[in-house]
Amino acid sequence: MNELIRFIKVRRIAVPQRISILPEIITNKIAAGEVVERPASVIKELIENSLDADAGDITVEIAAGGRRLIKIIDNGHGMSREDALLSLERHATSKIRTDSDLDGILTLGFRGEALPSIASVSRFRLATREAASLEGTEIIVEGGRVKDVRACGMAPGTVITVEQLFFNTPARLKFLRSAETETSHVGDTVARMAISRPDVAFTCISDGRELLRVQRGDLRRRLSQALGKDASRDLHSVNSSDHGITITGFISGPNTVRSTTSSMFTYINGRFVRDRVVQHAIMQAYRGVIDRGRYPIVALFVTLPPGEVDVNVHPTKHEVRFRRQPVVHDTLQNALAEVLRRSPWLTHPLTPASPGGSTTSQAHLERIAAAAQASLNLPRRETPFYASKNTAGKGAAMPVAATATPFESAAVSEPATPFRTETTGRESHGYFSSLSIIGQFHSEYILCQSGSELVVIDQHAAHERVAYQRLRQQCETSGIESQRLLFPETVELSFTETAVAQRFQEDLGQIGFELEPFGGNTIIIAAVPRMAAGNASIQLVRDILAELVTLGTSAAFRERLDELLARIACHSVVRGVHPLDNRQIAELLHSMDETDFAASCPHGRPVSHVITLGELEKIFKRT
Ligand code: ADP
Ligand code: MG
Repeated sequence: MNELIRFIKVRRIAVPQRISILPEIITNKIAAGEVVERPASVIKELIENSLDADAGDITVEIAAGGRRLIKIIDNGHGMSREDALLSLERHATSKIRTDSDLDGILTLGFRGEALPSIASVSRFRLATREAASLEGTEIIVEGGRVKDVRACGMAPGTVITVEQLFFNTPARLKFLRSAETETSHVGDTVARMAISRPDVAFTCISDGRELLRVQRGDLRRRLSQALGKDASRDLHSVNSSDHGITITGFISGPNTVRSTTSSMFTYINGRFVRDRVVQHAIMQAYRGVIDRGRYPIVALFVTLPPGEVDVNVHPTKHEVRFRRQPVVHDTLQNALAEVLRRSPWLTHPLTPASPGGSTTSQAHLERIAAAAQASLNLPRRETPFYASKNTAGKGAAMPVAATATPFESAAVSEPATPFRTETTGRESHGYFSSLSIIGQFHSEYILCQSGSELVVIDQHAAHERVAYQRLRQQCETSGIESQRLLFPETVELSFTETAVAQRFQEDLGQIGFELEPFGGNTIIIAAVPRMAAGNASIQLVRDILAELVTLGTSAAFRERLDELLARIACHSVVRGVHPLDNRQIAELLHSMDETDFAASCPHGRPVSHVITLGELEKIFKRT
């Protein structure tokens, strides 16, 4: 660089200066753009620092979702006055010193960016004291400018206060969502960090209300505190080590699933990471065990030598790069598959257990369950009936989370099919009613004839389509019929789900849900859309809330209405095999004609398929 300047001076070249090195106050702001997206990201960085400082107790306080105030108090090793001042400089870190240290990172932080970035976009106060020192140091920074440095009295540890985040970056401020949404992000962040370190006590307080308080303990206890008892009942421990990769933690059985990945907590060397390789390995292990579009609850810790993984891929470190990606993938998949293979839900006498073989499919088990229930003329419930005495005798953990609740048997006397008798006896002249019924195939498909064509109808997709259309009609006319549950269900939700349930309480009321807050993250399901009553209402509510997570306003709710109705429709119909007699088939065909029938179900799958005589003749080589 100097060479260049000298060259320019000697030659007296008049160069218009286009380029200049930015002052630090601006580079910090730019760095903040990457690291500090919202209050939750500030909290992530600050908790990481507290953990790196060996804190055993961390308290997070926020006001107005963290927009007004974020405060983190820890009892870690604190900083001297000199270090405290240095910590606010860009690229100032105590965690690495040399280039080679980058290959062996054992701390959560190492970039030396968080504190100066946060301080550059807020009114910031750092107070810190080392245990051996008599007094602490307090530093006040505003928009990146140090305003005051003084001694202060305080307990050993560090207190960081961030007020009016983004006060000097209006563009960023605009991107912040409502206080509830930001609070739910904060809650999720604290939960993630709390799950990663059960040996550290965490408290999170929002506008004076306690969101989370967890004592030191083991991982299982931590999970039940952070995710709720419902979620943690059906967890199975993973503990394996292969190829230098250790995998520990818990995974849920196939009855405890979610419709999003939000309950998949995965950590690489202690760091919460959403990684495609890890995610894929987990889903591969569950393939055939849970339905598509469903995700397990997992808290998994993958530990490998620091040199095997590059955490310096992304400023927020949410992504990593593995040196031996396929090995990590397969080791993880095998570890989980092994746990799933020896777990109780797969060893019912009805299904031949296959010890070293492939896992038995959940869909298959559901079919057996449905067939058995249908033959007994019982309502279809999410009863893990295949967890019979046989397996219970082995003393293994049972998938009890989805057992039938008294309400289901009390409130429902027959399977909730949308095409019940209401259509019967009426004349209808549509395409489907004109078909002559041949019968049912595999208790899943309806076979009909139309002239020289064979019409195959997916009865589940057809039911779903009819249910969906009925819901739409109800919505447009009288409103969606709601049914109060005889025995309301309580359900523990995540922070995000709770916030969503509150935000859309009224809108949800319009589509038949009555959800009442019950303190903390628990809500009561008092009523659900009548059409879906009798099936697993907790799962339905969770699915609906998952649809709403990304929405901010009631207007967005209305835009999403069709998808919500499709969800309800999906929950209202009998899944898997379901024997129908000809009268029931005729009813279904009638209902199909009465709906505005675009020949696919709300999920976009086709409802019917035509095979022509010509096609059959070709198969049999008659042409
Ligand atoms: P990094 O964590 O990447 O090193 P930060 O900007 O987050 O960078 O922090 C800078 C330095 O300040 C850290 O390396 C650490 O030495 C010190 N520090 C930050 N927070 C704390 C804390 N809560 N307790 C003790 N030291 C801290
Ligand atoms: Mg840090």
